Amino acid sequence: MADRIKTDVLVVGAGPAGSTVARYAAEKGAEVLMIERRPEVGVPVRCGELMPSVEEIKGMFPNLGDEGDLFEMPSHLRLREVDGIRLVDPRGKSVMLDFTGYTTDRDRFDQHLAAEAQAAGAGLMRDCMFRGIEGGVADTSCGEIEYKVIVGADGPGSRVARALGLPGNRNPYPAVTAQAKGDFDPQVVMFFGDIAPGAYSWIIPKVGQANVGVGFSPNFADGTPTQYFREFADKHGFDIISSVHGKHVPSEGAIGRTVAGNGMVVGDAAGHVISVNGGGVPLALIAGRICGEVAGDHVTGSRPLADYEREWRHVLYKPLKIAAGNKKLADTFAFGSERRTALCMALLGKRRMGNLIRCKHLFP
Ligand SMILES: Cc1cc2nc3c(=O)[nH]c(=O)nc-3n(C[C@H](O)[C@H](O)[C@H](O)COP(=O)(O)OP(=O)(O)OC[C@H]3O[C@@H](n4cnc5c(N)ncnc54)[C@H](O)[C@@H]3O)c2cc1C
Repeated sequence: MADRIKTDVLVVGAGPAGSTVARYAAEKGAEVLMIERRPEVGVPVRCGELMPSVEEIKGMFPNLGDEGDLFEMPSHLRLREVDGIRLVDPRGKSVMLDFTGYTTDRDRFDQHLAAEAQAAGAGLMRDCMFRGIEGGVADTSCGEIEYKVIVGADGPGSRVARALGLPGNRNPYPAVTAQAKGDFDPQVVMFFGDIAPGAYSWIIPKVGQANVGVGFSPNFADGTPTQYFREFADKHGFDIISSVHGKHVPSEGAIGRTVAGNGMVVGDAAGHVISVNGGGVPLALIAGRICGEVAGDHVTGSRPLADYEREWRHVLYKPLKIAAGNKKLADTFAFGSERRTALCMALLGKRRMGNLIRCKHLFP
């Protein structure tokens, strides 16, 4: 067919995972094409926009090794340094945890990563939707695309995972977010209780505004994302200055398999998200780099794609499993009633709540 596009590595999705895969595969010398269904990369923002510091990331993932420039962001994308997380129980009692990181504008952050991938030689087609795989060829809204390797970086409800016969994310949580105008302290605040059943609501400070949002577990909730957001915003009297956007967050850790035939999945598509707090961007970068390097080596040499599964597991699997185990404990003992939540938070205390946030065992 004359107008069929051909590439070595087809990356579906230009979020943090996809752009990182595309960058590292292109740096290995592969011909890379990234397709993104949205007309503008990163828009609209559906994220709390909090990035942990490199020290925090290395503490959570001690097998990471040399991070190189993976987490380096230009200063204009580091909007506000954060120096703590305040956890507020349903009775309003709070505990402050040490935590370092920064907040960003996720739309510009994602655009920066996509530009880096393009600078490395990857192509980007926006407004291009992956629909499925037919006869080993990708069917997309911008035509058929032939590839040697396909990578699904298409988020929590990954169509690529489905097309490859890989498992999907089970029990993803809805989470919604918007921008609120005002001056906020340089700490993240997380609120627990009926305001966000089975998860938490948050204030993440930026400059002259904050990212505010709510995540909740459908197992403990009976309202819609909009209702929970409205209730949270009204309670705190937020001056909301943007539209409210949301999506699902994988809540049970990594999926069972991430490689099938000549395909791989990465980032949210692979469940690379910390169950207890919903953080996924650093993991998308970590797994994205491994995936891109393996894809690049595969098409320019003969490296097996199975290396990707082995390597990301070496770095991410154990912390993700611990976080998923801690989340199950919270579901069983802490959620379901505000009294239980407050009691569990008091019993755990500051040190163990710190372990919870950082993917460590609660009772080491
Ligand atoms: C409300 C909310 C708040 C969050 N807050 C934080 C936070 O503060 N810090 C943090 O680290 N993590 C946070 N997360 C999680 C974080 O946003 C994700 O883990 C991260 O975006 C994963 O990156 P990704 O590239 O795997 O997926 P995504 O960022 O979801 O990117 C997937 C891309 O694929 C595209 N796509 C999807 N389907 C197709 C298709 N069929 N064809 C073509 N393109 C397609 C999408 O348009 C999208 O651009 C939050 C999540 C939510 C929902």
